[in-house]
Amino acid sequence: MKKDTRLLHAGRHPENFHGAVNPPVYHVSTVLHPSVAAMEKSGKTPFEGMRYGRFGTPTTFALEEAVAELEGGHRAVATCSGLAAITGALMAFLKSGDHLLMVDTAYFPTRKFCDDVLRGLGVETTYYDPRVGGGIKALMRPNTKVVFTESPGSLTFEVQDIPAIAEAAHAGGAVVMIDNTWGVLTFQPFTKGIDISIQAATKYIVGHADAMLGTITCATPELWHRVKSSVAAFGQSPGAEEMYLGLRGLRTLAVRLRQHAATALRLTQWLEARPEVDRVLYPPLPSDPGHALWKRDFSGACGLFGVILKPASKPAVDAMLDGYDHFKLGFSWGGFESLVIPTSGHSIIRTASAWEPAGPSLRFHAGLEDADDLLADLEQGFERLRQAV
Ligand SMILES: *Cc1c(COP(=O)(O)O)cnc(C)c1O
Repeated sequence: MKKDTRLLHAGRHPENFHGAVNPPVYHVSTVLHPSVAAMEKSGKTPFEGMRYGRFGTPTTFALEEAVAELEGGHRAVATCSGLAAITGALMAFLKSGDHLLMVDTAYFPTRKFCDDVLRGLGVETTYYDPRVGGGIKALMRPNTKVVFTESPGSLTFEVQDIPAIAEAAHAGGAVVMIDNTWGVLTFQPFTKGIDISIQAATKYIVGHADAMLGTITCATPELWHRVKSSVAAFGQSPGAEEMYLGLRGLRTLAVRLRQHAATALRLTQWLEARPEVDRVLYPPLPSDPGHALWKRDFSGACGLFGVILKPASKPAVDAMLDGYDHFKLGFSWGGFESLVIPTSGHSIIRTASAWEPAGPSLRFHAGLEDADDLLADLEQGFERLRQAV
C-alpha cells in the first residue's frame, strides 16, 4: 500500500468495534479486573492491554499504532502535548551526570527544559551548530547519552544531515532523537538512523488547531519500553477526545499537507522576488542553503516557512502584521488557518551558531485559504510596511 492509502487504514480495527469505521473514544480511568489473579497478571505487563486509564485504552493503542506506521517505527507512545513528548523522551535516557547534545535551533521550550530542568537535575547540555553533520563526533563525550536533532530547525529552518549525525552519535553509544514535526509524512526518520522520533501532533496530525497532543515513536521494543515507562512515570497521558481528534486528523493528513506545501511554495517564490525581502527560509527553494539536504532526505514539505525582511522599523513591521486579513497572529501552526509571528529579537536564542539576520524576521504558516487571497494579503501588508514611518 502507498502512504496515502496506509494513512486511511492505520490503527483502525473495525472488527473489534462492531464495524465502526473509526476507533471509539474510550473514557476510562478505572478498568475492572475479573479476579485478583487477573489483576496481578496485568501488573506483570502493565503496558499491554487495559490495566488503568493512564497506561492506555483502545483509543490510545489505535493512535500509537497509526503514528508508528506512518513514521515507519516499531511502536509509539502518545502524550498530552508535543512538549511532553520531548521531555518524556529525554527523561527516559538522561540521569544526573549524563551529557546531552542539543541542536542550537531547537524549539524554544525544548531549550528551556534543558536550561531550567535538566541542568537542575545534573544533566549537562551542550548546544551544537545545526550544520555540524559528522563533525558531531568531536563533541561526543563518554557520558553523552542523547543527541537531539530538529530538522528543519525551529524559526530558522536549517536542515540537518541526520544520517551523518546518527552515524557519529551511534559510534559513541548515544541515542539519536528528532523533533520531526515539520517532516511529518515527508521525512522517514527510521531509514535515516533515528532511534526516537517525536511529533507535536498538535500541529498537522490534529490539523485543526483544536487539541494538544504528542507522540514518541521508537525504533525497537527496548527503546519503546524505556520511553513508555518514563511517560507513565510522569503521568503524561493524553485525553481521550484529543487522541480521537489526532486519529481523525490523520485520515486527511496527506491531502492537507500537499495543499499547505503547494501554497507555501507559491508564497515563498513570490516573497523571494519582493524588494522588501532579504531572505526566505524554506528548504524547498533552490536558493535555500538546506535545499540539497532537503532534496536528498525529504519527499515533500509543509506550510511553515520564515522570512527575513530588509531593515525596517518595528512600528512599520507591526503595522504590516496587525493589518493582515488572513495571516493571524498566533502561536502554533499546522491547523487549517494561516498564521504569522514576529521572530526578531529575543525569540531566536543561539549560543553555538551565528544568527545575524539583515532585518526583522517572521514565521509564516500557509493555511488552506486560496493562495490568491493570501498573496493579496501579503501584498497589502507590504503597502502598510512602506507607508509606515
Ligand atoms: C509546537 C511545537 C512543539 C510543542 O508542541 P505542543 O503540542 O505545543 O506542546 C514541539 N516542537 C515543535 C517543532 C513545535 O513546533
